[in-house]
Amino acid sequence: MHDTDLTYSIVPMKPPKPTADLPIISIRQLTDYLETIAPPSYQESYDNTGLLVGNPNTACTSALLCLDATEAVIAEAVEKSCNLVVAHHPIVFGGLKKLNGKNYVERAVLAAIKNDIAIYAIHTNLDNVRTGVNRKIADRLGLQQCRVLQPRTRTLKKLSTLCPIEHADRLRDALLPVVQGWQNDVANVAFSTIGVSTFAPTNNSVAEVRLDIVFAAHLERPLLAAMRQYHPHPNPNYELTTLEQSSEQIGSGMIGDLPQAMPIAEFWAHLKTAMQAECIRHTAPIAETVSRIAICGGTGISLLPDAIRQQADVLVTADVKYHQFFDADQQIVIADIGHYETEHFTAQLLHSIISEKFPTFAAQLSEVRTNPVGYV
Ligand SMILES: [Zn+2]
Repeated sequence: MHDTDLTYSIVPMKPPKPTADLPIISIRQLTDYLETIAPPSYQESYDNTGLLVGNPNTACTSALLCLDATEAVIAEAVEKSCNLVVAHHPIVFGGLKKLNGKNYVERAVLAAIKNDIAIYAIHTNLDNVRTGVNRKIADRLGLQQCRVLQPRTRTLKKLSTLCPIEHADRLRDALLPVVQGWQNDVANVAFSTIGVSTFAPTNNSVAEVRLDIVFAAHLERPLLAAMRQYHPHPNPNYELTTLEQSSEQIGSGMIGDLPQAMPIAEFWAHLKTAMQAECIRHTAPIAETVSRIAICGGTGISLLPDAIRQQADVLVTADVKYHQFFDADQQIVIADIGHYETEHFTAQLLHSIISEKFPTFAAQLSEVRTNPVGYV
């Protein structure tokens, strides 16, 4: 195809204006905070979470929150004077080898660059935390006693360093806030052991404290920076150890119970209303009522065995193929409400996360419906 065959167009846009009277934070401040909620290390291996376009040190005038950072959403960001788009789905998934505007991905990225708009994606890392995408669905359905459907192991690290005894309290007190700010169930333990260090070549011995701190792996960089800042030695020795820990706080999907058992027809109506779903593709009901519901936003049929094992009456997810519906096999009801429908409230979730930390920051919900699927 020759360049003259291209039918793309870049939407003409005006640059964003800073929003008056509102505090301006840097893009990095905002994304660093989001990553304390949903650490990038929790993303799936195929994913591309993070800042996809833009300079993290730019002042953020306002953020537009959405499911998909399409060209229409970038145009909306310009219109609303937002210079950051926070999307659930990464618009760039694989590599981009050319940037000519030949497809919707390239057009969105080009429009963002042209208009100085950053794009940040918070995807499977937000799926995989207990307070993330699936919790939002569970809350909309009114589920109680919610727990992660398929918990997984996470990587923790341990920092060990020796410090002269008189400086040990100061060092520990400087390091603890770095690891404790993160919402989690890690007992971020600092463990101190007093011992004797002997130095060559004089064989002088001094009392030192060995300080051990367990922390979530993504905090390694800020923790080491704090250690270098507060350790009395200019170039301190330290050791890092990797630990594996299973966690009920991270993993895929969620399972919970309706406040009371519901006739299946009533549940379908409730599901449609709560998730604003136009259509439910489902397998045959097994019982007259349902009470335990497993959910997974997006493509979640791989969680079927976990949902069955935990005696869910229904698994609500999306992207279920014809043959996969057979796997319900009279043990559970599979309900596919559509990918967009399972996840479009994620923008609201992002809004509450951001507003809690930056109450006066202008985070706005996108009004563009990016669902590529229609129903007739
Ligand atoms: Zn999705």
